[in-house]
Amino acid sequence: MNGAMNFNIAVFPGDGIGIEVTEAAVKVLKDAQRLTGGFSFNYQELPAGAFCYRETGEALPKASVDEAAKADAILLGACGWPEIRYPDGTEIRPQLELRFIFDLYAGVRPIRYFPGIPPVLANSGARPIDFVLIRESTEGLFASRGTGKNPEVATETMVITRRTTERLMRFGYGLTRSRKKKGYPGKLTCVDKANVFSAFAFYRNIYDQVGLEFPDVEKDYCYVDAMALNLVLKPWEYDVMVMENMFGDILSDLGAGLIGGMGMAPSADIGDDRAIFQPSHGTAPDIAGKGIANPIAMVLSAAMMCYYLGNKRHNATLEEVARLIEKGVEGYLARGENLPADQGGSAPTEEITDLIIQEMEADRHGM
Ligand code: ATP
Repeated sequence: MNGAMNFNIAVFPGDGIGIEVTEAAVKVLKDAQRLTGGFSFNYQELPAGAFCYRETGEALPKASVDEAAKADAILLGACGWPEIRYPDGTEIRPQLELRFIFDLYAGVRPIRYFPGIPPVLANSGARPIDFVLIRESTEGLFASRGTGKNPEVATETMVITRRTTERLMRFGYGLTRSRKKKGYPGKLTCVDKANVFSAFAFYRNIYDQVGLEFPDVEKDYCYVDAMALNLVLKPWEYDVMVMENMFGDILSDLGAGLIGGMGMAPSADIGDDRAIFQPSHGTAPDIAGKGIANPIAMVLSAAMMCYYLGNKRHNATLEEVARLIEKGVEGYLARGENLPADQGGSAPTEEITDLIIQEMEADRHGM
């Protein structure tokens, strides 16, 4: 960590389109810095991922982790490649390991529809979709990540701890409260399966207990199966929702589907002291190297990083930068032209990035 206005950003471009969208996001961030001034980001690129594993035998070198630990925030593209695997056949996912290493328990997935891209839901009564899904990211059904040695039965144990759940709920209520100040409804929905599993009754109980500290936040409950239905029928009724790791894994993809797919869905993995910002999508080997990846999820993740740093270091400029980047994306998409390939257009990554930057410049210069 260093002086008030200087920030060290660790950058893991990763593999496949991770590299392409990271380049786009850093270009947007550099332009935002030039337009706004008053702060500086120092980028340090770090190796990790499937190709790193093939070349060095390590998917996540210790030196990369040590450097990332010292940074103010971490930007990550995407890691993994189907043909490159560990000897046991599993895929290379250092992004998952980083969540455990840095105790990044709150997976924040904003699900917001931007006018300009083809709408996904045809319901004529549809209202804007703009909610945040918080996925616990260090325990739940991902806690054991491995089966036993019994050749006849495979088991995974779901783990819900009081310590993590309390921090998760506090984070969820806090985020809901800060959104309320910006005009959102101020409702936090607890998504679980408390009618069947005692682990989820425990989880819900902690939601209630922590909720006593947040009387201004509206309480709401929904079983996960009903939530799958509601997210298709009436997603606009939600503000912030909090859920276990596996439920969040599934419903965040459903959420991304509501707003145009993985290329539109940013994310952040946040812990008490550290945070990683990355798109919800993977390395997309089918389009990697073609220069047609949609960089928006990554660019919006970079905006989330600016909000996070601004909030953490009480720096209003960085919140302004985050808003500027969002406005760049909004302005570009609102034109409904030169859309990314995954939104029915054919604009290359580089052109999309430049169009976002043009919108930011126009906004800054009051055009
Ligand atoms: P992972 O398992 O790591 O999540 P995956 O390869 O299964 O990765 P993704 O890479 O997330 O899945 O995406 C699935 C498909 O969606 C890709 O193969 C690609 O066609 C498309 N896709 C994902 N992200 C983007 C993007 N940013 N721009 C364009 N298309 C994308």
